[in-house]
Amino acid sequence: MKYKSVQDRLIANSFNDSETGCWIWLGRFNNRFYPRINIWSKQRHRCVTVYAHRLSYEIFKEEKIPVGMELDHKCFNTSCINPNHLQIVTGTKNLQLRFSRQRGSHDRQNKIVA
Ligand SMILES: [Zn+2]
Repeated sequence: MKYKSVQDRLIANSFNDSETGCWIWLGRFNNRFYPRINIWSKQRHRCVTVYAHRLSYEIFKEEKIPVGMELDHKCFNTSCINPNHLQIVTGTKNLQLRFSRQRGSHDRQNKIVA
């Protein structure tokens, strides 16, 4: 079986929401609801599981996420892997953003349900 490029796999495993522009991950998630993908690690010579949104950011932005830094979802959607919806922040900043946005994201969810 021929493996597609990682870019192709990221796109094939996500759904492009035309309303929000989000690339909704259709693959696996970890227990904190973050998208996961298995890729082949050349360094370790084995398959490793990584965060799909981090991988997407590094591949499409051609920019390495510095060690210890996290990606914040500007669109509040943790299942989104659109690199343009992600920004590099420190872990502390990410937590602050998450708390301050909790109310907003609940309101948004309610709207979608209604
Ligand atoms: Zn998004």
